[in-house]
Amino acid sequence: MAGPFDDELDQTLTIDEYIDKVEAEELEADLVLGGDEGKECTYAMGYMKRQAIFSCVTCTPDGNAGVCTACSLSCHDGHEIVELWTKRRFLCDCGNSKFGEFSCKLFANKDVENAQNSYNHNFKGLYCTCNRPYPDPDVDEQVEMIQCCICENWFHEEHLGLHSPDEIPRDEEGEPLYEDFICKSCSAACSFLMLYPQTIWAKGEQHDAAANEATSSTSKGKNVLEDVSSAEESRKLEKDHGLYSSPNSNNLIGGSELGSAGKEVVIGESSKVIDSNQCTKNATPSGTCLLGVDVAVVCPVSEIKPFFLSKNWRESLCRCETCVDMYNQRCIGYLLDKEDSIVEYEKTATQKREEKLQQREGDEVNFFNKLGHVEKMEILSGIADFKDEFRSFVENFDSSKPITSDDVLQIFENLRKKRQRLQ
Ligand SMILES: [Zn+2]
Ligand SMILES: [Zn+2]
Ligand SMILES: [Zn+2]
Ligand SMILES: [Zn+2]
Ligand SMILES: [Zn+2]
Ligand SMILES: [Zn+2]
Repeated sequence: MAGPFDDELDQTLTIDEYIDKVEAEELEADLVLGGDEGKECTYAMGYMKRQAIFSCVTCTPDGNAGVCTACSLSCHDGHEIVELWTKRRFLCDCGNSKFGEFSCKLFANKDVENAQNSYNHNFKGLYCTCNRPYPDPDVDEQVEMIQCCICENWFHEEHLGLHSPDEIPRDEEGEPLYEDFICKSCSAACSFLMLYPQTIWAKGEQHDAAANEATSSTSKGKNVLEDVSSAEESRKLEKDHGLYSSPNSNNLIGGSELGSAGKEVVIGESSKVIDSNQCTKNATPSGTCLLGVDVAVVCPVSEIKPFFLSKNWRESLCRCETCVDMYNQRCIGYLLDKEDSIVEYEKTATQKREEKLQQREGDEVNFFNKLGHVEKMEILSGIADFKDEFRSFVENFDSSKPITSDDVLQIFENLRKKRQRLQ
């Protein structure tokens, strides 16, 4: 017989670990769902800023459709579902032309297609540049993936295009110190970010020295290295000689570090573009732009690394007309919308979760207060019996040992016997 503890039989879990695990799973689910109770299809709400999206591999194996939480539960119950975490500006496809004869039980009257939806291989249950499923059946230990805030694809640490996963800004506990990640392919469209001051880049432990001397974006330059060995050497030299933060160092601008790329955009002390390439010659600094350059004529960077952005970096983005036009042209205008960020989404989700937990408590009290005296007494004595039984179980149990399903069944067996004796 399949029981709730069957999965855990092989694992050893103490009571505390089990409770922590359940609570963590509940919290994680609530953070993804963002307060969506999964009762109504979200189609009627239009392209939402962000919501949890699922793909049904049973109905749409080609990965060309996504459905909302409610549809995943009501319309695709028992189907093979891929959880896609959250996606921005996505309209539920459930029952539209992608689903053939299948119709949505919750909101049948949808357009044949949602033209603004975007799909990628995640909808087929595949992730990263390596095109693997998650969890990956061929891998013993699943590594967590990082989501790009632009394309919303997920990537393995070792497939980010870094020299080492140590370059990912993290604290001692391994918690991320960055708010957003931009993958290697999307960082090309966001190369203008290199015109911004140091403060927008997330710094890990190993970057402390550079972060403290954040007078220019030169340390970012090391993330666009082409010739690693020689650059590594010169960086060491600079560090040793205290030259590291000097924006005028030849090694940092158009020198050995950037030489082969040629097109790299580097910013100097004066927050103006210093570029070895002629393509910014026509730049006309605008008085209102934070960057003081015409971003439209700044050349794209040919070969760059993924970006790790610091906390609140989106607030630093210039909102001048030219920059806004540029964001829109590159289809990344959402970066200016605070509510687009995962951080903001999770903040709202946490609030809604707290309201829900309070409401749940209130509902229980209300339910209880409506009962008659005899029913109240029965419930209270039932709870007291359970508490006694559970307490004696816990007191006599070695908490370093795992609880098995037999132990739990024994608690209920004891309670049943007690009731029988009372009757
Ligand atoms: Zn739906
Ligand atoms: Zn389905
Ligand atoms: Zn549906
Ligand atoms: Zn990968
Ligand atoms: Zn990306
Ligand atoms: Zn601007």
